[in-house]
Amino acid sequence: MRPLLTFVFALLVVGVAWSTSPQDARAAAADLLLHHARIYTVDPSRPEAQAIAIRGDRIVALGSDAEVMTWRGPATRVIDAGGRALVPGLHDAHGHVLGLGELLQQLDVRGTTTAAAVVAAVRARTATTPPGAWILGRSWDQNDWPDTGWPSAAMLDAAAPHHPVYLSRVDGHAAWVNSAAMRVARLSAATPDPGGGRLIRTANGDPSGVLIDRAMDLVRRHIPTPDRATVRERLRLADEALARLGLTMVHDAGVEWDDAGLYRQVADAGALKTRLYVMLRPPRAGQTLPPPLIGHAGHLLTVRAVKLVADGALGSRGAALHAPYSDEPGTTGLLVTPPDQLHTQALAAVRAGYQPCVHAIGDRANTDVLDLFEQLQREVPGSRALRMRDEHAQILRAADLPRFAALDVIASMQTTHATSDMPWVATRIGEARTRSGAYVWRALLASGARLANGSDFPVEAPNPMLGFYAAITRQDVHGQPPGGWSSDQRLTRTEALYAVTAGAAYAAHLEQELGILRPGALADLVVLSDDIMQVAAARVLETRVVLTLRGGQVTWRDGL
Ligand SMILES: [Zn+2]
Repeated sequence: MRPLLTFVFALLVVGVAWSTSPQDARAAAADLLLHHARIYTVDPSRPEAQAIAIRGDRIVALGSDAEVMTWRGPATRVIDAGGRALVPGLHDAHGHVLGLGELLQQLDVRGTTTAAAVVAAVRARTATTPPGAWILGRSWDQNDWPDTGWPSAAMLDAAAPHHPVYLSRVDGHAAWVNSAAMRVARLSAATPDPGGGRLIRTANGDPSGVLIDRAMDLVRRHIPTPDRATVRERLRLADEALARLGLTMVHDAGVEWDDAGLYRQVADAGALKTRLYVMLRPPRAGQTLPPPLIGHAGHLLTVRAVKLVADGALGSRGAALHAPYSDEPGTTGLLVTPPDQLHTQALAAVRAGYQPCVHAIGDRANTDVLDLFEQLQREVPGSRALRMRDEHAQILRAADLPRFAALDVIASMQTTHATSDMPWVATRIGEARTRSGAYVWRALLASGARLANGSDFPVEAPNPMLGFYAAITRQDVHGQPPGGWSSDQRLTRTEALYAVTAGAAYAAHLEQELGILRPGALADLVVLSDDIMQVAAARVLETRVVLTLRGGQVTWRDGL
């Protein structure tokens, strides 16, 4: 190119780069335009629109069909949404990505209504598993069976005499194993309960085949660790499943450091469909947290949070309560991490600029975690800005409610936990504690707390429509109980959508980029088969995702 032409060309390039007024920007035209949609932006200053224009990975315009059509150029792809609802890309503020991938590889016994059905599934799996190899499965729930007592190793032994079997309970806080697995782990009547865990035993003290919380490790540590290829395959399986469900961002609640390294490789290769916000496992002795990774690979990967655990779960009576369990007066649950160790871990996270995200289910654990956050905010000036997170915030004492807003602590909740647990919560903790403090989203909002909603998949199914439905109904998928369980704690549809978009984005420090459809934001959105902001609640359960766009790229498309 001759010098003069080069100069003119350079001027043109600079001219385009300089163009900031809408008129000039429009000259460049949109890459993609979606029109004829009913757009719910989650932006209070412009709640609805008909059309959206995207250039690169960002939104450049929103408005009426006529307004946005002016962004059309010769190369613009145009998608007619057919009048369907379009919402921001959905976020799951608390899930376990590799756990979902593992589940997709493993025996899934979710929804089985008898122990015998689980045993039959294990027997079928033995036919395709070499003798001696482990059979892994998950998501059984004895509360769904006619006999809600714990199952036994003996029940599995007849079906799988030659394979060690390890089946996680639906909440991940108990495991059902067979005798072959207990032999590998050398469990016997002489095995003591480990700290933070318990072995269910027969009358004569022998382990009966169910391990609670930390006792699960006694067997789990004998399961061969998956190789890199297996982990990568789990990530791929989960990532595809999430995109299909309209999830464009997942907060991954507890990631091993090696696995975070793998996420980074996959993000760098551009092979992630779903953005990941990683909560790392806490540093072990001698480990130092690396500098936070923020907005990596076009915001595909962020690593700036640490996942800590205060107590267990309510289903297995591991949640730490102030007063004893109503159905087992001898226990108040388990503080899974000793309080001084929890403080050390959280302080290390905060000092390294990481957001502490602490699992707290029982009211005692929630009080402790709020105390811990208060202490950290005193010890490390400015750390309030980290937006400390209470993961689950499930059972709360009234006195603790205002502390969320006062400390700018995010209530990271899971609406489907409420509707899964509601049949037995009052049995565990009694009517009074249930009414005043169990899954009290409305009371939290009224106190000024910020909510983010997630599913805790694979504890619950990852489909965000289930969480949205649970939030607005507090009913199970059959519409029970009529009127909803503690229905005064329901969310409106607007609040429920906010909690899986802008609310979750805030919890990830990403509210400038994600969660609201507006010019300048990343172009993450989904088109739905039904308008979840209008249709009858039961219809929300049938709603499918027909298009998922992450950063302007189609990551799922079916029927549009
Ligand atoms: Zn979780």
